[in-house]
Amino acid sequence: MADRPATTLDPDDWDAVRALGHRMLDDMVDHLAGLRTRPVWQPMPPEAREALRQPLPRAPGSLEAAYETLQDAVIPYTAGNPHPGFMGWVQGAGTPVGMLAELIAGALNANVGGRNQAPVELEHQVSHWMAGLFGFPQAARGIFVTGTSIANFMGVVVARTALLGREVRARGLAGDPGHGKLRAYTSSEAHGCIAKAMEMAGLGSDALRRIDVDGDGRMRVDDLRAQVEADRRAGFKPFLLVATAGTVNTGAIDPLPQLADFAREQDLWLHVDGAYAALGMLAPDVAPLLAGIERADSLAFDFHKWGQVPYDAGYFMARDRAHMLDAFAAPAAYLRRAERGLAAGDAWPCDLGPDLSRGFRALKTWLTFQAYGADAIGAAISHTCALARRLCARVQAEPELELLAPVALNVVCFRYAGADAEALDLDRINREIVLALYDEGRVAPSSTELAGRYAIRAAIVNHRTREDDVDALAEAVLRLGRRLSSPNHQESA
Ligand SMILES: *Cc1c(COP(=O)(O)O)cnc(C)c1O
Repeated sequence: MADRPATTLDPDDWDAVRALGHRMLDDMVDHLAGLRTRPVWQPMPPEAREALRQPLPRAPGSLEAAYETLQDAVIPYTAGNPHPGFMGWVQGAGTPVGMLAELIAGALNANVGGRNQAPVELEHQVSHWMAGLFGFPQAARGIFVTGTSIANFMGVVVARTALLGREVRARGLAGDPGHGKLRAYTSSEAHGCIAKAMEMAGLGSDALRRIDVDGDGRMRVDDLRAQVEADRRAGFKPFLLVATAGTVNTGAIDPLPQLADFAREQDLWLHVDGAYAALGMLAPDVAPLLAGIERADSLAFDFHKWGQVPYDAGYFMARDRAHMLDAFAAPAAYLRRAERGLAAGDAWPCDLGPDLSRGFRALKTWLTFQAYGADAIGAAISHTCALARRLCARVQAEPELELLAPVALNVVCFRYAGADAEALDLDRINREIVLALYDEGRVAPSSTELAGRYAIRAAIVNHRTREDDVDALAEAVLRLGRRLSSPNHQESA
């Protein structure tokens, strides 16, 4: 083996790697095929934690032994979002195709920051698809990022640069004559990462106005108008409107057409946080609810939620890529790209966003669309909404259950209310119901607070979830609620 440097990390024996790799692949296929036979979640036992608390290995170890550690201490103890009973938060389930894509992406180890290579082309292709899906013009461009949190941050940075010009990149906000006067607007139901984006962008979360929502959780356009006008009178500079398409709490979609009209009238940048619901464009029954999204100046969403692409696969898209270049391209670098050879290619992804080195997230997304087809993803999305309607109907039909928010899409917020709600500490009982559900491991919702009340929140995102899973949730909540509110239990609590 004279042709191998002594320090290479490649194996002496490729066949040994191949054999173990085949075993891992078999195990992981079994893992996915057998999800239903295991609990959604189980706590990590102390031995498992202990097994991970080892010093940095200095000497070579055995891959087999490390794999055993993974099997014993890690693989059984994940949060469980691939499991059909997982209804917590808003998390995608992944697919076997996505898993295989990750294998290929790992082998290619492409750095998709730029250069003249097929992975950049493939990412551009996904961008063309998305521009078509969302009705954006030819000039639109999208790029993969970790998640919507970063994509929303990009939205704030792009909007700021569009307003203040590229000079703001050098001068900073302190160099702006209206320094400290910029104001952004979002609803009180917006995701916490919008405020964080304002903080990270140096604008401050105090510069973010949170506009009240109506009974359906949608931003009130009249309140927005009043706030923007009051801010202008007070000498502030409104510049950005962040609409939400699919709130985390209830799945509410802000009135996008009215907000687009208002943004145009007031010369505000319209950014849409469509983290999970924007891909509802793939579902014939959800797409009409998203009308107006095509008028956004920029859009953030995740393929890793309703799109079922494995984590992570967030996406940022602007209707005019020039704004992305203005905000992120190294000065004029994109004009100086080589005309041929390895370093050629027009706008590299690194010119369009904050990352230089970037993984090949486009591959798992592309392969998901190739293998399943966009319509199948859309059908899975429609199915989760149908399951939510089923759960909603069940909750409304059971006198001891109470619906706490309208069901817009795939999120059902409800609680056990018992026969005599006044007499019970419902927040405590419902909190205990959720903890008991986690212990049982059949179904796992999350929780939220709505109008000061603790709510059990079932966010149905998983393409594997079936009718019997949502029925099991309703039945378990009834059973646990009755037990926890029985006089015996009340006294002992
Ligand atoms: C999930 C979510 C986010 C955050 O997205 P990440 O991909 O987790 O960073 C932001 N906004 C909404 C509405 C979400 O549902």
